[in-house]
Amino acid sequence: MSAVPPHRPQGPITSQFGAREPAYLAGLNAEQREAVETTEGPLLVLAGAGTGKTRVLTTRIAHILATHKARGNQILAVTFTNKAAREMKERIGKLVGASVEGMPWLGTFHSIGARLIRRHAELVGLRPDFTILDTDDQIRLIKQLLAAENIDEKRWPARQFASMMDGWKNRGLLPRDISPADAGFFANGKGQKIYKDYQARLKTLNAADFGDLLLEGIRLFKENPEILAQYHDRFRYMLVDEYQDSNTAQYMWLRLLAQSRDGINSANICVVGDDDQSIYGWRGAEVDNILRFEKDFPGAKIIKLERNYRSTSNILAAASHLIAHNESRLGKTLQTDVGEEGEKLSVTKVWSGAEEAREIGEEIEQYQRQGDPLNDMAILVRASFQMREFEERFITLGLNYRVVGGLRFYERKEIRDALAYLRVIANPNDDLAFERMVNVPKRGFGPATMQIVHDIARAADIPLTSAIRELLETEELKPKPRSTFRELIRQIDDWASRLHTIPHYEVAEQVLDESGYTEMLKADKSADAPGRLENLKELTRSMGEFDNLGGFLEHISLVMDRDTGEADDAVSIMTLHSAKGLEFNTVFLPGWEEGIFPHQRALDESGLAGLEEERRLAYVGITRARKRCRISFASNRIIYGRVQDALPSRFVDELPPEAIETIDKGSSYGGYTYGGRASTRFDARDPFESVYETPGWQRAQRQQSARKGPGPITIDGDLVARSSGPSAAYAVGERVFHLKFGYGTVSSAEGNKLSIDFEKAGPKKVLDSFVKRG
Ligand code: ATP
Ligand code: MG
Repeated sequence: MSAVPPHRPQGPITSQFGAREPAYLAGLNAEQREAVETTEGPLLVLAGAGTGKTRVLTTRIAHILATHKARGNQILAVTFTNKAAREMKERIGKLVGASVEGMPWLGTFHSIGARLIRRHAELVGLRPDFTILDTDDQIRLIKQLLAAENIDEKRWPARQFASMMDGWKNRGLLPRDISPADAGFFANGKGQKIYKDYQARLKTLNAADFGDLLLEGIRLFKENPEILAQYHDRFRYMLVDEYQDSNTAQYMWLRLLAQSRDGINSANICVVGDDDQSIYGWRGAEVDNILRFEKDFPGAKIIKLERNYRSTSNILAAASHLIAHNESRLGKTLQTDVGEEGEKLSVTKVWSGAEEAREIGEEIEQYQRQGDPLNDMAILVRASFQMREFEERFITLGLNYRVVGGLRFYERKEIRDALAYLRVIANPNDDLAFERMVNVPKRGFGPATMQIVHDIARAADIPLTSAIRELLETEELKPKPRSTFRELIRQIDDWASRLHTIPHYEVAEQVLDESGYTEMLKADKSADAPGRLENLKELTRSMGEFDNLGGFLEHISLVMDRDTGEADDAVSIMTLHSAKGLEFNTVFLPGWEEGIFPHQRALDESGLAGLEEERRLAYVGITRARKRCRISFASNRIIYGRVQDALPSRFVDELPPEAIETIDKGSSYGGYTYGGRASTRFDARDPFESVYETPGWQRAQRQQSARKGPGPITIDGDLVARSSGPSAAYAVGERVFHLKFGYGTVSSAEGNKLSIDFEKAGPKKVLDSFVKRG
């Protein structure tokens, strides 16, 4: 095994370092150092948060490179996110004193899995340039397959199948491996066939979905031992971070690669993890993978790291005390090496969610004034809908923030869709909004139908909704789209008129329900659908903070208009799940209320196991903090459109009293009654400060588009007619030609509508712009 050194290591290296050891080893404690230097054979580093697991992995790679045990391209290193992979490369670069090129196998399971099957695409029935399908494509494909099997999609939704299949793929199951019991869940036992057809279709399309990136790799290795042997030779060292969150397919894939080359000696695989931070059970992660490492890799060495270098002792005490409430855990000792007790954690009771955002905003500004960079602060929420309140507040304050691992609230698809409906109601001339909502949920308007509408609108320079109104008086459209359009326009008018009689936020709820949007999401069985529904509730809830729909929409356009360029210094907002592995000086953990955290769904669906996973999330949250951890809960929370008394999370009671300081701001607003939505608009202490300004929104409302002269009409690119202005241009008795209905004679004319007796199609009402002289 002679490897060419890719980099000159920093500092001199003598035989096993002799007198002078390399700089990268200095500063490691004895156990960490042992983990770094035990390069041969299987190794498990099982340790609590902040003990330097990731640091060990990084240093270990640097060590392997520096001691020429392997070249960069002979090391397989798996991280949890692409961001983590980039950071790891940077850190290794710093350690070995060179930029780390040539580590093509450092990345996430997905990215490495894709790279691997691209190299052998033909063996798994693909071409090297195969596409990776996103969820939407996946659903579309499943729908086609369901239709082909005459399976009623209403009864057996495509998304339900998608998430079932995801589960199979996470467990490493090919179509042939599905047990009849498993397959029986869907469409009276047709699950297996659809899965099989789906995989076959993917091959025809030269495509793979996310699950395939590993599943096909597993198949490749099993069916082609000689290929697997190549990789046994190639990957001299394998390293995996966050091993507690690996699922079965990932485990199988790794295990195949890590099988001993000669059947005697074990592979050089090092995995690091923390059973207390296993938070992806809901996505098929198997914490057992970490527990059975010893069994799978006989002779495995286990190293425990017990010194925490991240957090103060108060923070660590709180996290340890909390997680001790879990029954299923290995149990670990954790001592801080930070050497200071530090501030106590604070648990603040606030009045409402809006109040919570204000308090946190103020605190952040205060820390900022003291010189703390915003980059060192993070707000970690349980569910993404909780972000809105903070985003709004920070925009008002002009405080830079970034949403890590997801979109900003108003950029989310469901929010944009809902806003499109509201914009159309507020302003029927808003064509962009109309186009966005017209087929969401699906109403069956095809491209040809929409083309006709567009042509009319463009020719007469009128908005799309007006063009449809005109078309409705004719027979230009087929009966089906005509009646669907008629219903839609009726609904839009109806919703708009309700704005005069009932509060705009209620109208918004009705719009979402009556349009079928809510139902569409409810029928959606994908993992993110419930979160989307929550986001919509949060949207309608937030509308109550404005006097009317116009004010709300004006506010949104200002918010969306904001420069989205990344600021150098910004507070991070993210979910607890995305925060894994990261650290910040100051961490805010808002919304510690029963139902939100622990999340009701986790409790309902998974009982005690769900609760314990929630508790691990809380543990992850607290242990992200280096110096300061600020927990809060509101005593009133609007959930599902209603103000509800919120109960503090049970996790609050599970914190050790000696490590926390409780602050009560929730009852300091004497006389301030939370009368519902509109009252959140003012800060109780400063009733004249409007949180949201709504300057001159009226201007934005209902701007009639100026009508210009007639323009040409095209269908599928062909000029078929010119908008002819008043139909007086056509005389009764005149012979005309209509693209769809053919020749006919004008029997009467009214405005721009003509009644024509068509020679073949019989009498019809059409728009004058669609006929030309025969
Ligand atoms: P998590 O479980 O959250 O992923 P981890 O075990 O991976 O945590 P790291 O992120 O590697 O922990 O390390 C936590 C912090 O402690 C980092 O800032 C790291 O640089 C620092 N650290 C780790 N080991 C040492 C050490 N021996 N001396 C000083 N600082 C250290
Ligand atoms: Mg880590």
